[in-house]
Amino acid sequence: MTENATRDLITDYGKSIFDRGLTAGSSGNISVRLDDGWLLTPTNACLGRLDPSRISKLDWEGRLLSGDPPSKEAPLHLAMYRERPSAGAVVHLHSTYSAAVSCLRGLPSDNCLPPLTAYFVMKIGRLPLVPYHRPGDPMIGGAIRGLAARNSAVLLANHGPVVSGASLEAAVYAVEELEETAKLFLLLQGQQTNPLDREKIRELIKVFELDLEP
Ligand code: ZN
Repeated sequence: MTENATRDLITDYGKSIFDRGLTAGSSGNISVRLDDGWLLTPTNACLGRLDPSRISKLDWEGRLLSGDPPSKEAPLHLAMYRERPSAGAVVHLHSTYSAAVSCLRGLPSDNCLPPLTAYFVMKIGRLPLVPYHRPGDPMIGGAIRGLAARNSAVLLANHGPVVSGASLEAAVYAVEELEETAKLFLLLQGQQTNPLDREKIRELIKVFELDLEP
């Protein structure tokens, strides 16, 4: 795909994400890997009204090559790409249900959502929690890098999810599945649930050849 077609795709997915209320105001950011750098939505840009020609283009040190100044959350994306050569795109949202889960006390830090459905296991697998960092804290890149090699998605405490995928479509589908699972998890609070057991998860890993440890 050409760089211009990739810019148009980011704009289309941004509008779709914004129109469905998956992110609000100027929050959330989308990036895609290119052959000669990567594209990231600009700082203070609304995902619903992106201008493809102004999307930031950066190098692998995070330096701006062209376009508007990039999102301040560039280190979240860079950390994912550095640890995951297979990642072609990264989406970070402040989507309501995932952000709500990220504010709960006592979440297991290695995997903060139970495997309620097969699709959550297939698209996310495991979701570690990254401890709280203030916006713009450069330490957050290191915190994500420690987890990204083994996990395609992480949840930032008191903030929201960062999800990678082989393509932009895959990353968007995965973040949507995560948001739905977070919604189910909150709807089911106080009720007894039947998460998938180890054997069912092993079966999914085998049948769908998931990059996931049982
Ligand atoms: Zn954010």
